[in-house]
This record gives sequence, C-alpha cells and structure tokens, in this order.
Amino acid sequence: MPEMFDFIVVGGGSAGAVIASRLSEDPACRVALIEAGDRPPAVSSMPVACGSMQLDPAVDWMYTADPGKAGLGLNGRRMPVPRGKMLGGSSSINYMMYVRGHPGDFDSWAAGGATGWSYNDVLPYFLKSEGLGPTAGAPIDPSAHNSSGPLGVSVRSPALPVADDFVEAAVAAGIPRGDYNGRDRGGSAGAVSLTQYSIRMGKRSSTYQAFLQGEPESRTNLTIVTGAQVTRVIVEGETGNLNATGVVYRTEAGETHTALASKEVILSAGAIGSPHLLLLSGIGPRHELEAAGVSCVLDSPHVGKHLKDHLMVPLCFSAPEAGVTMNQLARSMGSAVLRGPGGPLPADPADDANLSPELLAMKLEADRRIAEWEATGQGLVSTSLCDGVAFFSTGLGDTHSHDAEIIPFFTAGDDGLVRDRFNIDTERFYDDPAKRLGPDSEAIFLLANPVLPHSEGEIVLESADAATHPSIRMNYYDDPHDMKVMQAVIRRTLDVAAHWPGNRKLGPVMIPPFLAEKHGYRMGDEPSDALLKDFALHFSLTVYHHTCTCRIGDVVDPRLRMMGVGKLRVADASIMPNVTSGNTNAPSIMIGEKAAEMIAAEHGVKLASFVGERPG
Ligand SMILES: Cc1cc2nc3c(=O)[nH]c(=O)nc-3n(C[C@H](O)[C@H](O)[C@H](O)COP(=O)(O)OP(=O)(O)OC[C@H]3O[C@@H](n4cnc5c(N)ncnc54)[C@H](O)[C@@H]3O)c2cc1C
Repeated sequence: MPEMFDFIVVGGGSAGAVIASRLSEDPACRVALIEAGDRPPAVSSMPVACGSMQLDPAVDWMYTADPGKAGLGLNGRRMPVPRGKMLGGSSSINYMMYVRGHPGDFDSWAAGGATGWSYNDVLPYFLKSEGLGPTAGAPIDPSAHNSSGPLGVSVRSPALPVADDFVEAAVAAGIPRGDYNGRDRGGSAGAVSLTQYSIRMGKRSSTYQAFLQGEPESRTNLTIVTGAQVTRVIVEGETGNLNATGVVYRTEAGETHTALASKEVILSAGAIGSPHLLLLSGIGPRHELEAAGVSCVLDSPHVGKHLKDHLMVPLCFSAPEAGVTMNQLARSMGSAVLRGPGGPLPADPADDANLSPELLAMKLEADRRIAEWEATGQGLVSTSLCDGVAFFSTGLGDTHSHDAEIIPFFTAGDDGLVRDRFNIDTERFYDDPAKRLGPDSEAIFLLANPVLPHSEGEIVLESADAATHPSIRMNYYDDPHDMKVMQAVIRRTLDVAAHWPGNRKLGPVMIPPFLAEKHGYRMGDEPSDALLKDFALHFSLTVYHHTCTCRIGDVVDPRLRMMGVGKLRVADASIMPNVTSGNTNAPSIMIGEKAAEMIAAEHGVKLASFVGERPG
C-alpha cells in the first residue's frame, strides 16, 4: 500500500529542507521529505573542506555541461557542474557565502509580473531564517538582519589578513565598505566587505543543520526518506483538469515505491533536478518529450528553458606571505590529512613510532588545531577561503542592480582543485604549474564574476530513464553583452589588485603562456580586449548558480503553482524569474521560507510564525 501524506516535498536542499521543516511545525500536518542522497557526512561541517566533496558520487550529482561558446581551455570542453546530493542539498557542499542580492533584483522580478516578490516582500523571509552571530570587522546594517533565526550567519574572526587587504584594495579602487546584505548594497558605487558566511561557531550552517537536524527530524509527522530518487510525479485527470497525486521513487537498493499526497506535491529538486523531474513526468515541450520517449501529459514549452548561471574568470596572482598554502591548510586539518598520498606522515598510524621530532611536533600540532576547531570553531579550517567580497556596476546596462562581483579565493589550490574540479589543463593554464601549484605556493585568485548575464541555457531530456542525466546546455556568451561585461569586470578586478595595500603587494596577474604569446603580451602589460576575450572564452568557470529553469510567469505562477497542473508546486532556485546579482543560496532559502508560508496559508497549516502571509 502506498503511504499517504498531506504534502510530499521532493528534494531536501536549500529550499526543500526549509519547506519540510516549516510545514511539519504543525503536528497535524503529515509531511514526507524524499531526498536522493543521505545525511551529510561529517566533513560537510568543516568549511575549508567544501571542495573535497565534489566528484564524490555519494554526495555530488556530478553533472557536466556543454559550456557553449566558453570552455575552450577545459578538458573535453566540458564544464563540471557539482550539485549537493544529500540533505541540505547544495547548501551542504557550497562555499557558504551568504549573499541575498540587490534590492533591485527583486523589484525587477515584481515589475516583470512576479507579484509578491519585490524586495520589501521578500526581506521578511530572509530575516525569518537568519541567525546572525559575530560580525567583527564587517559593517552591518542592523535593520536588515535578525539574530534569532535557525540559519547561522557570521563573519569569520579573526579574518585572514589577506582578506583585510582585499577590502582595503577595493576601497582604494573606489568601492565603498558596506553591508552588502543591507542598505549599502543599493549604493551606486557598490559595496565591499569581509564575507558574511552561513557558518555558526566555525561550522557550516546548511539547511540540514539549520532546519532538520535535531528536533525537526524527530517529529512523528515528518517522514524523511533518504537514498530515494523520485523518478516521476503522478499526474491524474484530463487536460484542463490535471492534478498531482503523488510520486514514484526508487531506493538505493533498486526498489520502486509510491507515495501519495492528499494536498500537494512540492518539487524542490533544484534548478536541474526540478525541470528534469517535470520532463520525466511528461510536463514540458511536447517535441522534446516525445523525442526522448516520454508521452506528453502537458505541453509546457518553458520547462528547462531560460537557464541562467554566473561565470568567473580565475585571475591568479602570487601573494608572498599572504596566500594560504596547501601545507598550512593540511597542517590545520588534523593528522589524518597528513597521511594522504604524498603526505609527510606514514599512511598507517601504527608506523608513527619512529617519527622524527619535527614530524611528531607537526602531527601533534595538526591534532591540536583540529581539536581546537571542534571545540571552539576557531582555526584555519573555519573558512572556505573567500573571506571578502565586492559588488559594483560596470555601467554597461542593468542599472536596476549591480552587474559585477569580485570573489577572492585566498589560496593557489592544488592540482586536484584546478585539474579535477575546474577541469582545467594545468599544463596549458600555468606558466610554471609545479611552482604555482606546489604545497608551499603563496598565491591567490581574484575571481572576476559578472552577475547579470543575458545569455540563457537549457536543460533538455536525454532519456526516459531517470538515472540518465539530462543534457545541460549553458550557451555561455551567446549574448555578446556578457563578454563586454566580463572584460570590464576583469579590468576592474585588475585595478583592485593594483591597489593592494601595504608591503604584501601582489605579483602581476598570470596570463596563460599560450594566450600571452598569441596576443603579444608581456608580464605587466595592460592586457588588450582581445586577450581578455580569449582568456574568458578559454577559462571561464561556473560559479554554480544555476537558476530560472521553471521561472515564475512561464512555468509557475507567482505563488509557485505549476501552471496547468493542480496540487503541484515548484519551490527552489529554478523559479527565479532572473538570477540574483550575487550568490544564490540565501535567495533559495528565502524561496523555501516564502513557499512554506504560501502553502500553509492556503491549506490552514499552523506554522509557528507567519511573517508575510495571513494564515487561513
Ligand atoms: C559547489 C557549489 C558552491 C556554491 N557556493 C555558493 C556560495 O558560496 N554561496 C551561495 O549563496 N551559493 C552557492 N552555491 C549555490 C547554492 O548553493 C544553490 O544555488 C542553492 O543551494 C540551490 O538551492 P536549491 O534548493 O534550488 O537546490 P539544492 O540545494 O541543490 O537542492 C536540491 C535537492 O534535491 C535533491 N534531488 C534532486 N533531484 C531529486 C530527485 N529526483 N529525487 C529526490 N531528490 C532529488 C538533491 O539531492 C538536493 O538535495 C554553490 C553551489 C555549489 C554546487
């Protein structure tokens, strides 16, 4: 017998975990949360280890995308697209930068028809989640923050000295210091600050940790099914009177189950997963469904379309005495990390008896540091190494918002990061790969990151089998506007680097040698537009902000109800009418909060509090 619930939430990620948690605050409301992955592994809570979860099929969907005109320098011309596959979803694997967006992003959503999504409408939902903690060193607009919500938000203290340098450099280059999640984000000159992270006491605050772990996951009216991939939404009725009545899911053991929802099915499977599921369920562009062998239940031409993402060009600088080395990181992560391949300690702790005094001291210090982080949250491992961020306008259009962001990444990384996770051929990218990527390399990246792209990609069904990934076609740089903005953002980023303060000056930007040769560039020259374009076409990378594939107005209405199918909603990053001009986790959580209140208000669910809707 299929199990019956009031609501089924598909996907326990940034939005879905919030919705399941909030709806189940009412003990009379029976909620199922069905998640393809499991609970996050312990390493997920360590901020510095975020990259280590990528390419692990247990926790990463490991999609890859066709990058369109970009990707000339990527191996096989494929762009890796990590997505969290666990409770907390991508909030369990991401870099934890807590960025809401520019007020104008939301006002333009509302002006475009997304009634109820203006900045004034959505601010209460950002506040509802937020549990702001320590923020020393960062300007904070108190009217835009809340300290009592479940999601830990904090500014790392003490900040890395290089992060203070970044902020100082940006200020010297004309970007004022300010709270980019408060009133200062609206300023015409932009804002720079130390980063507000979704981190509490040095540990990741994913939506699993913030909204499910502990009391919520023990509620008898909340059934959390993990290791269960939903393969289809069950839709019954005739065209004009279609309703979602449940879902079919497949367990890791290969069993197929059905769960029924008396009130609603809510898709929160993310900007790739939600359109994929709709397509598998026969809801999407008719010709594409039929080409993949799925019979069309509802011809909905925009499902999977209008895909937006942010791109970044990684600008690498040597940063003597400032860049965090891989050796420093390894020595902060506990002795187990020092036993990895090529590490200084023996693989087997049983062989530690003959350690030299230096290695013994290193081992004890690594274990002391990790124990300190466990107990107090302090230490180098409590950062994703992006401890500063700047927003500004290039002046090339999109005047309602800022169209540019600079994210610093305060390490050179290693071969595993650049070759495997970025899929860059390091021999081509670097002038001296062994030195640039060596364990004691002191370097940083400044990531030039336009945030209001005009190009749109798409998610296309490849197969009727849910186990086959859909095709992700990014179409990056399809609209020439995006390259113009990228060139301008790179130039502004170089200007920030040129204003680096004090005696820790950055070295010159590293231009890949084959591009330098092609464009007659010598280190220290002003790069030409043609060189910057070529650099961007070869080495632009995703910032992981896939959005807009089930956007309001085309696929769902402003209350996130699927147009053409009753009792079905979509609530995650896919519903954004346009990508926000910043990182997309906080907006996805906001979407979860707002969706929960809309659903609760319509169905008489008694949430602990309502901040926007009038309870029914
Ligand atoms: C590597 C990385 C770094 C990032 N860094 C940042 C950052 O620093 N700051 C920031 O703001 N944003 C960042 N982002 C983006 C941000 O995390 C996402 O935009 C946000 O998490 C999207 O939320 P979502 O709810 O739409 O989807 P997700 O959080 O991805 O949740 C979708 C959930 O649905 C599950 N699912 C999918 N399909 C199915 C199915 N068929 N059946 C059952 N379950 C399913 C998935 O396993 C997942 O748990 C990053 C993302 C990544 C991947």
